[in-house]
Amino acid sequence: MPFPHLLAPLDLGHAMLRNRVVMGSMHTGLEETGDWARVAEFYAARARGGVGLIVTGGMAPNREGGVFPGAAGLFTDQDIANHARVTSAVHADGGKIAMQVLHAGRYAYSPECVAPSAIKSPISPFPPKELDEEGIEKQISDIVTAAARAREAGYDGVEVMGSEGYFLNQFLVTHTNRRTDRWGGDYANRMRLPIEVVRRVRAATGSDFILIYRLSLIDLVPDGSSWDEVVSLAKSIEQAGASLINTGIGWHEARVPTIATSVPRAAFAHLTARLRPEVTIPVITSNRINAPEVAEAILASGQADLVSMARPFLADPDFVAKAASGRAAEIAPCIACNQACLDHTFSGKLTSCLVNPRACAETELVYTPTVAPKRVAIVGAGPAGMMAAITAAGRGHRVTLFDKADEVGGQLNFAKQVPGKEEFHGLVGWFSTMLDRTGVALRLGAEATPHDLQSFDEIVIATGVRPRDPGIPTDPDALVLNYIDVLHGAPTGARVAIVGAGGIGFDVAETLVHAGESPTEHPELWRTEWGVSTPWQDRGGLSPNGPAPRLPARQVILLQRKAGRPGRHLGKTTGWIHRASLAMMGVKMVGGVNYERITRDGLAVSYGANRERPETLAVDAVVLCAGQEPDRKLSDQLVALGIPHHVIGGADVAAELDAKRAIDQGARLAARL
Ligand code: NAP
Ligand code: SF4
Repeated sequence: MPFPHLLAPLDLGHAMLRNRVVMGSMHTGLEETGDWARVAEFYAARARGGVGLIVTGGMAPNREGGVFPGAAGLFTDQDIANHARVTSAVHADGGKIAMQVLHAGRYAYSPECVAPSAIKSPISPFPPKELDEEGIEKQISDIVTAAARAREAGYDGVEVMGSEGYFLNQFLVTHTNRRTDRWGGDYANRMRLPIEVVRRVRAATGSDFILIYRLSLIDLVPDGSSWDEVVSLAKSIEQAGASLINTGIGWHEARVPTIATSVPRAAFAHLTARLRPEVTIPVITSNRINAPEVAEAILASGQADLVSMARPFLADPDFVAKAASGRAAEIAPCIACNQACLDHTFSGKLTSCLVNPRACAETELVYTPTVAPKRVAIVGAGPAGMMAAITAAGRGHRVTLFDKADEVGGQLNFAKQVPGKEEFHGLVGWFSTMLDRTGVALRLGAEATPHDLQSFDEIVIATGVRPRDPGIPTDPDALVLNYIDVLHGAPTGARVAIVGAGGIGFDVAETLVHAGESPTEHPELWRTEWGVSTPWQDRGGLSPNGPAPRLPARQVILLQRKAGRPGRHLGKTTGWIHRASLAMMGVKMVGGVNYERITRDGLAVSYGANRERPETLAVDAVVLCAGQEPDRKLSDQLVALGIPHHVIGGADVAAELDAKRAIDQGARLAARL
């Protein structure tokens, strides 16, 4: 059997899990749409795909504890009936599902938020109200009621959210708990609340109900928990009646990335491994695990009893079924980009997935097998073209994919060169596998002409983008490169100015300052870079020396014309990581720049609308990352010949093109062909 540890059942005594795979909690925003058929199908698809235990997105126990005003919860009989639709759909497909109860405490985005002490969080504008004894009792009772209602709605269990800096976590550490009553002071008092919650949830839900406690193993904030405290809490939580302990990593306010793509795979599994022998109930590990091989290795080496993956189940609901049937290479990989999931959540948009536009759209975007197969030509094997090709071919069309390059991947092949973006290798690999498995005919290494396309029933142009030439006056002996040259390894010298600070400018800067091995591939290097130690060395797992990046390989200055600091328009949940990473490597980031001339001495610039403070930035090379323009040469030729065709991806609209939009557009067109 493939993946024998991952696919082994687990007997919890009161419940049998069919394998060791947990789908971790994610807030999708689906519940708030009120479209319960859609919510039910989202979870049922994951149950059909074979996952052992699903944990829902966090449900609020009461108004003040909701992550934002109006956050979903089990408040009324109608709520219970709605959730019952979800649990029956999951059960009908052979799955098990636990509801997460999430009290946000001072992270609640609301003026009504409550906390152990009135200390405002750095990531919320609202100072919390300090709870009195009666207020604390109300919170416990509301959490317990939510758990009891979850049982009524047919859930197999609950997960009590005790990590990530939320309400229960806030009681545990002096960073947020300055109380002097029986809920604060020494650790026995500070851990009273989570223990009381677990004890009373168990009492209210009965002995045959799965009760997971998500415990913060490394807080990554000042004055966080010590390892002795973590262990003491875990033992008490077990005694209080939990069935499973799940791993939580880092508070939301931590200045250390914990799930972004640049975090090494399974970077925190060693913490779960250290906790495992301290308790007798099974422990679940989590964070940056996105492939069955990685999960299997964790379990085989005894680091955990179960593996929780969240975003990988957006990317592919059939993760487990594919792993079990020898089709692991067909699992659409989560590249940990956050672009369509967390970035959407934090912008108030419904979650989806860059790799799988059907995520959370299961009832709306359906790939129906075709009854009238067509011959489809797709030109351009970048993300838009490849997604259109595998979707159309998967529906039964006969697809030929053309690209002038010798390999598929398009712009994804540039992204995978960037240190910290190694996951893009897996994405290109997955597209290649799927092109092969769906029988797409590849015509690589030659530019397609209108003549080549004439005999097809449908023509799709996905020819992508060309780098924009910003037209800066340039002396003939100056060294000017574009991002493609740099990512192909063109020499730049030791001092570089980058014109344009969009996603690609940041990627190029990251590439230029790093030399040698990527920290993403070397967890120790990565931890040193971000100042991460362990809670058994330092409270909260923060090294007292702080971040200690390596010396930059080059001196880089990143420029934009817009006033203000570059990087404001990067991903909502990842932009800060890119900015912090470059700042640690000494990259200067400057806005409000006018580019006057590129000379052999460097880049002549001035600042502001009045072209003030003219100076020459002494650099050896200038790299142009000034955005892109659509490459529509072939489309224009087809238009001139009156040949109908579709245009998708960057060839359609280059502005702010990214793989998310390209893949989505490719999938949606192919679903209609
Ligand atoms: P972009 O995000 O549009 O940025 C283009 C940059 O060039 C801007 O900083 C812009 O700033 C500057 N610029 C535009 N026109 C210019 C001109 N005529 N002269 C000088 N500067 C000019 O494009 P990109 O960086 O090429 O990225 C392309 C797409 O890929 C984007 O949507 C990006 O989000 C996506 N991408 C995403 C990631 C990621 O990590 N999520 C990584 C790479 C790329 P000023 O106009 O202020 O000068
Ligand atoms: Fe993973 Fe990106 Fe999809 Fe989110 S959007 S699930 S991070 S691939």
